[in-house]
Amino acid sequence: MLDINELFKEEYSVLEDARLAAADSQLPADACREKLWLVAKHYQRLIRESYRLISRSDRAERELNRMNEQLQKLAAQLEYEATHDPLTAVFNRSAIINLINRALTQANVALILLDIDHFKRINDEYGHPTGDRVICALVSRIRKALPQSAAIGRVGGEEFTILLPEARLEDAMIIASYIHSSLNASTLDALPGRSVTASFGVSLGRKNSDFETLYGAADAALYTAKKRGRNQVALHEDFFCQPENTACKVALAR
Ligand code: GH3
Ligand code: MG
Ligand code: MG
Repeated sequence: MLDINELFKEEYSVLEDARLAAADSQLPADACREKLWLVAKHYQRLIRESYRLISRSDRAERELNRMNEQLQKLAAQLEYEATHDPLTAVFNRSAIINLINRALTQANVALILLDIDHFKRINDEYGHPTGDRVICALVSRIRKALPQSAAIGRVGGEEFTILLPEARLEDAMIIASYIHSSLNASTLDALPGRSVTASFGVSLGRKNSDFETLYGAADAALYTAKKRGRNQVALHEDFFCQPENTACKVALAR
């Protein structure tokens, strides 16, 4: 840390001398010139010191900015890692729960729960690394079917939660059915020799309800889809299922 008084000690003394000389009308010209010379010499040193200080402070400011940027990047990275699944880059369990609860404070929310069918067999037959690639390929397939406002979360191993904020039940059914058909229409790049299917549970949560209620309903629907033979979409019966709702009738009839 610089001590400014110490740094300019000599200059203070020369300045004081010069003041005294200026006030002394009897001082001979030679002595005056000598004082002036001293002032000039120290003034020069002062300019040099100022330059040095300015460039030092510029360097410090640049370093501070660089460190600040690094800190912000690190904070963003930490935030990302705390909220995302490392394998698939979708939201992790706690992050998607927060998002769903937040979305529920704004409007009705539709939820699709997707669970890969007989995934254990895929792991057993092709190995865990292939299983991992299948999960990633499936997530890419899901992404293609979703609107911008949707969010995918990984709640458990091979089970994914799709949040559709402000969506109607019909929208959720269309999206779930689209992903379902897409999986049946073509194999995943990660496993070209075998079809990978999934079962889907769809539910709708009223504004101001909570994750547990919405997830419980989707999970019950998913259980129904599994029980009915897998590779299908099922809708939870409770939510907004009016007889005139075509999507409900179609889904419930399945
Ligand atoms: P179901 O149709 O009833 O859902 O049958 P399943 O075999 O898919 O379900 P089960 O719960 O019996 O097995 C899920 C398997 O998913 C077991 C677990 O090892 C595997 N799994 C979970 N997470 C991962 C992962 O990140 N990578 C891989 N490769 N496998 C995973
Ligand atoms: Mg499964
Ligand atoms: Mg599962």
